[in-house]
Amino acid sequence: MKIKKLLVASHNQGKIVEITDLLKPFGIEVVSANELNLPDVEETGTTFFENAELKATELAKISGLPCLADDSGLCVDALGGRPGVYSARYAPNRDFDKAMDLLINELKQSGSSDWSAHFSCVLALKLPDEPCRFYEGRVDGEIVSQKSGHNGFGFDPIFKPKGFDKTFANFTKEEKSAISHRGRAFQKFVTDLEKMV
Ligand code: IMP
Repeated sequence: MKIKKLLVASHNQGKIVEITDLLKPFGIEVVSANELNLPDVEETGTTFFENAELKATELAKISGLPCLADDSGLCVDALGGRPGVYSARYAPNRDFDKAMDLLINELKQSGSSDWSAHFSCVLALKLPDEPCRFYEGRVDGEIVSQKSGHNGFGFDPIFKPKGFDKTFANFTKEEKSAISHRGRAFQKFVTDLEKMV
């Protein structure tokens, strides 16, 4: 199916700009949930797949447009995979500086010396009369006890990807996209799009 116009189920302007750039070569017009005054969909799922599917399906239904949604988060091994799908809600009043302090404290209290973690991202694409298509990306690494760097967002200052000596907050946008969970999920989405057009 040729997609002419795609609704991106996000209110995050940074994400919208990135996705718009990515889809330019395909001649796809991107509209955001904000522009169409669409409501926030409650993330009641217990997995990234469920939440991405919920958002894509609901907003495709309301708007009548093909819809792309993503759900992502940080999973810490010593905390049994938490905060996971609750990553955004882990931050008190969306204050990620506090959230990072909380996470480091939790890890210290766990007594574990293994601070392995990964970021996951699942993209769900809902086209009319088709089940959702999914694209998953993941990046492995570890949590560090000292925040470092000012780029990126969320937990970036305390996440050091495997094979690198710096946290995500010390990566440029392009460097991060090349290896990040979101970047990897998008690479799979774009490959599928190339097959569709
Ligand atoms: P959502 O995908 O917009 O629901 O956001 C999930 C949450 O996971 C964000 O609020 C961040 O806390 C965290 N997160 C997801 N991706 C990243 C990332 O690339 N860097 C840092 N934190 C992230």
